[in-house]
Amino acid sequence: MSLPPIPKAELHLHIEGTLEPELAFALAARNGVELPYASQDELRAAYSFADLQSFLDLYYALMAVLRTEDDFADLADAYLARAQAQGVRHAEIFFDSQAHTARGVEIGTVIEGLTRALDAAPSKYGISTRLIMCFLRDESAESALATFEAARPHLHRIAAVGLDSAEVGNPPSKFREVYALAREAGLKCVAHAGEEGPPAYVWEALDVLGVDRIDHGVRAMEDDALVARLAVDQVPLTLCPLSNVRLRVIDRLADHPLRSMLDAGLLVTVNSDDPAYFGGYADDNFAAVRDALGLDAETLRILARNSFRAAFLDDETRELYLKEVDAHGQPAA
Ligand SMILES: [Zn+2]
Repeated sequence: MSLPPIPKAELHLHIEGTLEPELAFALAARNGVELPYASQDELRAAYSFADLQSFLDLYYALMAVLRTEDDFADLADAYLARAQAQGVRHAEIFFDSQAHTARGVEIGTVIEGLTRALDAAPSKYGISTRLIMCFLRDESAESALATFEAARPHLHRIAAVGLDSAEVGNPPSKFREVYALAREAGLKCVAHAGEEGPPAYVWEALDVLGVDRIDHGVRAMEDDALVARLAVDQVPLTLCPLSNVRLRVIDRLADHPLRSMLDAGLLVTVNSDDPAYFGGYADDNFAAVRDALGLDAETLRILARNSFRAAFLDDETRELYLKEVDAHGQPAA
């Protein structure tokens, strides 16, 4: 009997990036939306990208099928079912509010639809969840502020704010004001930084936005002082190895800096980012780095423990999950 997947938390997951071709076609039919692809196979073939921007173009185009609360609930439920099979015990899920409100879908529709699936997840899938509202960094600071104000009636559903989309030319400091408001409202803060953008963006995310975690952060390795800072403060980094290859952040998985980041004492985690597009869910990413980097079982356990250490969990729940990691692969008592 093969071992079940190691228990893990997924901390870098865009719910819109879990839209598989099957569900995209089903929702298109339900909502009478015309997709510019003749078949699921033709759409699947389009899931191949030159860089972050070419991925984002398709990603935003496909969102047209998401219109109602039911659509968002179905999207989240489909992800949670897959996540359960991949050993995910806790998921912190991003959504891109502006990508939906720009299409005329209200923020409450998005949040209530997602929340319906998330609320059912503990009993249905044995998965605890948090919701993270991301600002699109290629939109204006004013748009982020307006989004935050529109979300105020729903803030009890939201654990944190994040920052995503096209990184280069959109430094974290652009969003100083909205992050200050989020912190004032008691929310946690995360931000994509150091994926395609320079180490300076990671510094800004830490020192200007005051983030609790950095999403990606692979380019931090270019700056020794930054590596030292991240190590001393144990700032979690949510790495997404298969995403990095598909978006050409690195050429081959064997070149991924994950091992040197661990060796530098960084609190790194492994996540799937946009798994429908990048070729794998959470445990697929664990398996891919295990094979490409030759990671042993103890290193995989460290990565799993890190995912719970970095999660926005209360200490008691965190301890329960860490015990599950320790018990994984041990003979039952
Ligand atoms: Zn991401």
